[in-house]
Amino acid sequence: MKVDILASGSSGNCIALTAGNSTILVDAGIAKTKIEKRLMENGIEPGNILAIFVTHAHNDHVKGLPIAEKYHIPVYAGEEEWKSIKIVSEELRHSVYEHGFLLDPEGRNDWFIVEPFKTHHDAYDPRGYAVHTEEHKVSICLDTGRVDEDILAAMSGSDIYIIESNHDPVMVEHSDYPNSVKARIVSQVGHLSNMQTAEALVQLVQGRGEKIYLTHLSSNNNMPSLALMTTVRQLMKKGFKQDTHYEIEVF
Ligand SMILES: [Zn+2]
Ligand SMILES: [Zn+2]
Repeated sequence: MKVDILASGSSGNCIALTAGNSTILVDAGIAKTKIEKRLMENGIEPGNILAIFVTHAHNDHVKGLPIAEKYHIPVYAGEEEWKSIKIVSEELRHSVYEHGFLLDPEGRNDWFIVEPFKTHHDAYDPRGYAVHTEEHKVSICLDTGRVDEDILAAMSGSDIYIIESNHDPVMVEHSDYPNSVKARIVSQVGHLSNMQTAEALVQLVQGRGEKIYLTHLSSNNNMPSLALMTTVRQLMKKGFKQDTHYEIEVF
């Protein structure tokens, strides 16, 4: 499976997962034209997108959904999350529940099994997704205030982990954000700190060459080197070395 992080961060998130000639997107949080451009740059035809899976309805995850209308792509989101997504026409809307389901395009061997799992964020019905193909399992957990046992169970055994490493709590505390915003970010329905992400990865990574993508970093309250160092250090305590037991990239 090919992973292309087309956008990451509070200004927009969009991830493309490609198996053979078929692609699925997780979130479409940048302008439609930017998605088209970045898909083409990565050798992906927008017409080959089978489906778009939305984590939740915040603007940095749904802004580019008009791309679904243009290419007639089905869009999946938690059932309750549709209350706040208006820009997708009725015929393209699909709800995800707890069970996984198969996407199997006719006449191709490229199939995906997608298993949604609940995340903890200030939206109606936020989700993460574990995606299986013939060769790989990739799990994607973006905006969430905490990682619980159910999330760990859904993500476990992946070859590829795409997870937010949003902020450093001390930087949030010293930022000039209003107190209400600070409180929201670090709350149980806000975002993962670097340490929360690192602790989740310590539970998940087994040292068999997994690939980690740290995403959705706050531009004001984090630094790529800090996010990277936090996870690398925690995994080191478990005896796992970067590039020997796992690979890691920060977006
Ligand atoms: Zn959000
Ligand atoms: Zn977000």
